Amino acid sequence: MSDQGRGTLIVLSGPSGVGKSTVISSLLARRPDIYFSVSFTTRPPRAGEVNGVNYHFVSRQEFERMIAADELLEYAEYVGNYYGTSRTVIEHALAEGTDVLLDIEVQGAARVREQFPGAVLAFLAPPSMEALAHRLRSRSTDDEATIARRLCRAAEECEKIGLYQFLVVNDKVTHAVEELEAILRAESCRVCNRKAVLERLVQTCGQA
Ligand code: ADP
Ligand code: 5GP
Repeated sequence: MSDQGRGTLIVLSGPSGVGKSTVISSLLARRPDIYFSVSFTTRPPRAGEVNGVNYHFVSRQEFERMIAADELLEYAEYVGNYYGTSRTVIEHALAEGTDVLLDIEVQGAARVREQFPGAVLAFLAPPSMEALAHRLRSRSTDDEATIARRLCRAAEECEKIGLYQFLVVNDKVTHAVEELEAILRAESCRVCNRKAVLERLVQTCGQA
């Protein structure tokens, strides 16, 4: 939680197949207080994906209606499909003091940073591009043409790392999760997020 009781917005980006979903589910198991934002997408569900859990799967027509109605905080087109974040759900959770985690690509992260300058932006990188290609193939969810497009996009995304404050290498999932927890812990210790402690100290100055 940040100052004034508002939640902290946490953005995790990284190339497709780097392990964002894997790392996020492990992080959420340790930090159930964090609200994971379920995005909207026009991509068809993969085997095992559940509507409303992994994504809200919608038609292109419905997505374009949401854009026109300004219902999305940010959205982007990624390898032929739309992906976007609901504005009302996020704003409501943050206002309630809940920390919110977004798994979004770099254009969306840039839009979030413009609107929420206090957001925490972390980029999850693979230990090597070979490891990334191996993970994409071993996941067995995409054909070779899609994997090639995702790898191409990965190279572009790695060039945008300057947008982020933190870089975490997903060599081992446990290691990546520990680093993310450390980032969140450090964030909560910022002076700007410790206003209540400071006020208490100032009020009681001279009483000891
Ligand atoms: P993303 O959400 O970034 O697209 P996934 O979480 O779906 O990536 O992971 C892609 C594949 O890589 C999955 O098969 C997953 O089990 C595997 N994976 C994730 N993290 C690691 C890791 N640290 N080492 C090896 N394999 C991993
Ligand atoms: P995938 O198809 O592998 O689930 O996701 C493809 C990419 O879309 C990933 O980089 C993921 O972070 C990104 N993504 C998922 N949801 C959103 C969203 O709501 N907005 C944006 N901008 N990107 C998203």
